[in-house]
Amino acid sequence: MPGRSAGGSPASLDLERLIGDARRRLPRSHKALLEQIGVQDAVVNRWPDGVQAFYETLKATPPTAGDLANALAVWLPDVRVVAYNGDLLSHALDVHDLDQASVQRAVDNIAWHEYGHALSATRASSTTKRDGPRLLGLLPPGLRAAIDYPGGYRQMQVFDEVIANVYALVIGRAVQSGDYRMPSFLHPDVCDAFKAVVPWPPDAR
Ligand SMILES: [Zn+2]
Repeated sequence: MPGRSAGGSPASLDLERLIGDARRRLPRSHKALLEQIGVQDAVVNRWPDGVQAFYETLKATPPTAGDLANALAVWLPDVRVVAYNGDLLSHALDVHDLDQASVQRAVDNIAWHEYGHALSATRASSTTKRDGPRLLGLLPPGLRAAIDYPGGYRQMQVFDEVIANVYALVIGRAVQSGDYRMPSFLHPDVCDAFKAVVPWPPDAR
């Protein structure tokens, strides 16, 4: 049946359009920054092989299958691509009682988190990044619980993870409610670290 998979499940979500909408609604200056960094979005359907294929012509080492396992999306600094796990996302978002707005909100959150990675990875110094574990300890419990450290992340990855989570949070408030203030529940040191990497509040909204 056209537009339907063999299993009879609904046609796969238009992930490209949902991701495009997430990016389009960013503040203008942040869109420009992502352009400047050269961030591209790519929905990858053979995971993890499709991600590792980006590295075929590069000397850089691709992430391992273990690194990529169960990831909904990943920022690939060497190729400046945000790769979205097409099959896993379609599966996760193909829930009958999930309305269009909820699907968009889920994709927004994933894309904005990865853009936070792209900004942090390209704009934070390695000295700054050493501060990751301390900043993690200053996050409110809910945000802290989203970052599996020590465990899933190495010490030098924690800073980017903190920035990515804070970016998705503050961009969400800005886009959805027009609220450009840093949330009062974030520690001043976290806000300072964030603002050192991400221009905030963004100009030319
Ligand atoms: Zn992350």
